[in-house]
Amino acid sequence: MNACRDILPWHDTAWQLLRAYITHERIPQSILITGQAGLGKRKLVRFFAQLLLCETTCNDTFTPCGHCRSCTLFRSGTHPDFVEIKSESEDKDIGVDQIRGLLSQLRLTVQYQQYRVIVVYQAEKMNRSAANSFLKGLEEPPNRTAIILITDQLSLIPATIQSRCQKILIKTPSPECATDWLASNKVSGDLSLLLQLTNGAPLLAQEYAGSDAIAIREQLFNQFCLLRSKKVSIVEVAAFCCDHHQFDLLAWINSWIVDLVKISQTSANTSVRNIDLYDSLNILSGNLDLQKLYDLYVTTLELRVQLKQPINKNLAYEGFFIRWLAV
Ligand SMILES: [Zn+2]
Repeated sequence: MNACRDILPWHDTAWQLLRAYITHERIPQSILITGQAGLGKRKLVRFFAQLLLCETTCNDTFTPCGHCRSCTLFRSGTHPDFVEIKSESEDKDIGVDQIRGLLSQLRLTVQYQQYRVIVVYQAEKMNRSAANSFLKGLEEPPNRTAIILITDQLSLIPATIQSRCQKILIKTPSPECATDWLASNKVSGDLSLLLQLTNGAPLLAQEYAGSDAIAIREQLFNQFCLLRSKKVSIVEVAAFCCDHHQFDLLAWINSWIVDLVKISQTSANTSVRNIDLYDSLNILSGNLDLQKLYDLYVTTLELRVQLKQPINKNLAYEGFFIRWLAV
């Protein structure tokens, strides 16, 4: 049983590793936490950070005390030895100036005797010069400083940075574990559909449960089908996607394409992920060019990554749907 609700059931393996670092007093200088979005990576990292900073950590329970000077500053977001780096807005990079600012801070001494913890959120957003500058900083590691990078796009982190970090993967929980957690957190609705829409990520499923995600997915699927019969235009569907960009639309579209490939090959519905859409997918699968469908599958993966960068989303979606019509 975990002492804190920030440590979630599927964090166990990662948490044991982090605890072992503390037990053996060997905190790696840089740690890279990976795993898909919606698994609570930030919660885990912030808990670990508070634990490192706490002045009276209990080493039996691995829980920060919650009331020392460090814990009080941490909770109020003003701890001088806890530095968070993130992009200033959704479509902005983490720039070189932010990293240079961080490096100059690192030259200062630690204020409170414990550790200094630097967390870089969405580390994949570091642009090339920021990443280079960051690497330079890693060459001269300051004492008692833990740098923690968080990403759900590991492939976008330069290999040179990856090789300098201890990598910790947060695994997606089993459907049973995820469903139990959602139920115990009083999330209602179609839990298995919510988990399907979020690729099994419980925190994202919880967020989607309180939104119109299921309705948006249904509308998008209708438009995806209607495009083929020219009953809606590419411009309309692209605009719809831009309006609902807060959802991982391309992950949904990607899963429809995977199902279309499966149905085209076997026409059995046993391994189809979007079982609720099977009838429509089955109709849609007639007259599709399988090779082009494979190519479109790859395109969705690439575009999903590109859309997290500052690009013209409207044009990107339009280009994608032109390709869908050519399949
Ligand atoms: Zn404390």
